[in-house]
Amino acid sequence: MKSFKQIFKEADNKIVGIAAAPGIVIAKVYLFTKEKLVINDSPIENTEEAKQNFREALNKSKKELDKIFQIAKEKMEATRAAIFEAQLMILDDPILIGNIESRIEKEKKQPEYIVFDEISRYQQMMILSHEPYMNDRANDIEDIKNRIIRNLQKKRWQSKIISDTIVVSDSLTPADTILLSRCNVKGFVTDHGGLTSHAAIVSRSLNIPAVVGTHNSTKKIKDGDQIIVDGFHGYVIINPTEEQIIFFTGKLDRLMELQQSLSELKDQPAQTSDGKEITLLANVDVTGEIDLVITNGAKGIGLFRTEQILEEMGEFPSEEDQTRIYSNLASRMYPSPVTIRAFDIGGDKFKFLNFTEPNPFLGLRGIRLLLENEKVFMTQIRSVLSASKNKNVLFMLPMVSTVAEIKKAMQLIEHCKHQLREEKVQFDKHMRIGVMVEVPSAAVLAFELASEVDFLSIGTNDLIQYLMAVDRGNDLVSGLYQEFHPAVIRTLSHIIKDAARADKLISICGEMAGDTLAIPLLVGLGMKVLSIAPTTIPYAKRIIRSISFSKAKSLADECLVCKTEAEIIERLEKFFADNSITRTRNII
Ligand code: PEP
Ligand code: MG
Repeated sequence: MKSFKQIFKEADNKIVGIAAAPGIVIAKVYLFTKEKLVINDSPIENTEEAKQNFREALNKSKKELDKIFQIAKEKMEATRAAIFEAQLMILDDPILIGNIESRIEKEKKQPEYIVFDEISRYQQMMILSHEPYMNDRANDIEDIKNRIIRNLQKKRWQSKIISDTIVVSDSLTPADTILLSRCNVKGFVTDHGGLTSHAAIVSRSLNIPAVVGTHNSTKKIKDGDQIIVDGFHGYVIINPTEEQIIFFTGKLDRLMELQQSLSELKDQPAQTSDGKEITLLANVDVTGEIDLVITNGAKGIGLFRTEQILEEMGEFPSEEDQTRIYSNLASRMYPSPVTIRAFDIGGDKFKFLNFTEPNPFLGLRGIRLLLENEKVFMTQIRSVLSASKNKNVLFMLPMVSTVAEIKKAMQLIEHCKHQLREEKVQFDKHMRIGVMVEVPSAAVLAFELASEVDFLSIGTNDLIQYLMAVDRGNDLVSGLYQEFHPAVIRTLSHIIKDAARADKLISICGEMAGDTLAIPLLVGLGMKVLSIAPTTIPYAKRIIRSISFSKAKSLADECLVCKTEAEIIERLEKFFADNSITRTRNII
């Protein structure tokens, strides 16, 4: 079989973008172009009438968004649908409305021009922040701006398209994505947008393959073209040749076969051929993924990244909101365990403080920030405790580097328990508390940390970055971000042994746990719990069921004395070949 490279090397009909939502689809294109708004900035005489028109347009926009919000609530989990609630709130923002009305009064210009100018200033500020998250939110605001202007110009709202097509567009607002999905859209391709754009989040949640950030799809692709979207690798193929179609139909067949054989594994244990049982848990970024967690046969949630709630809502949810979200999660998963991680804010994640740090990754991040902001931390602790009454909730602290941090957090947890007891709120008195081991100092002191808590969880994403002194998001040094560096492997082995010495549970929840190449090694090092993306669980189970623990242990022993990453990778690949195990990456 020819490889992708062989078939597509010279091909000028391919576009490469960001793989935003997995899946492969071949279908006709619907080029979704939004009419370019022409803004009239002519002077006006009657400012009262202009303000009245503005208010009417605002109300109509609210009605439209409210409709979208209702559909979103039906199709998605509440936290995701909250994107639209947040947009509705902007339409109610008294400062924004006040500014627009007073500018209409003062400047005596068409309201559409004032709306355009005022909201564009907000967006400019967001774009200038140079943060991908803020850039994506500026795109959401674009939707609100255009909506009000379209309603001021009394133009129609396009929400219907030809069904069963792949939508190709310059960019898609969350509202477009939701409305278009009602026409049985098969896939999405956009010129702009990153992984955190809501169009990407919504596509993943609706299970529609998507490739975003392609830069020039709308220029290269025409309405009615046939295209292939590969949401696993971020490829778009325009009017594929016979050979290319055969290649992708082959991929589709293998994908279906794999999914079929994997679904048969759903109720089988993740057990090695010599009987060692491994617990597979799921990492959850947003509550909408729970269906996936359940259908893929996870034994619980090993990491719920609560900071994602902030990313989606753009603000801190109230104690009631948090309690509702965590309780929902706990009851949907009951009696399986749910590990809720305290907000890991800082670094490259959600920012809420108005200061910049010279080295954010080495700054006020995770537990450090929470201990500096006790109110935020205690609100979250109280919500997690309130959600724990059925005893299936665990609470985990991110970025811990000293025992003192654990002791301080424990005091706050005790204080919250005391408050809740006084308030007669039920909670699990013995809710298990754990820490993430993701900083070298925590790894070295794993025994001491484990002795303070109920469990440890290794966050390899950060542990590798801090151990190798290499920014996990910096392309220039990505070659040094080595998952299989001997120092990483030996550190993992040390942490696992320390946890066993302290007789405490240990899991691993970094991306490495879901890398099929790493699984035999992790199992051989003695790791019994892996927490990975829900959709990778069947793939991991397949590998575990095809290896023996004793062989995996010998493999780990060999890797522990290697000197370079290349030597370790060579041993791992040989292990797969010798035991005739195929890796998913090589199948699809
Ligand atoms: C990790 O660092 O491995 C981890 C799981 O945390 P995050 O990726 O959220 O930083
Ligand atoms: Mg981390």
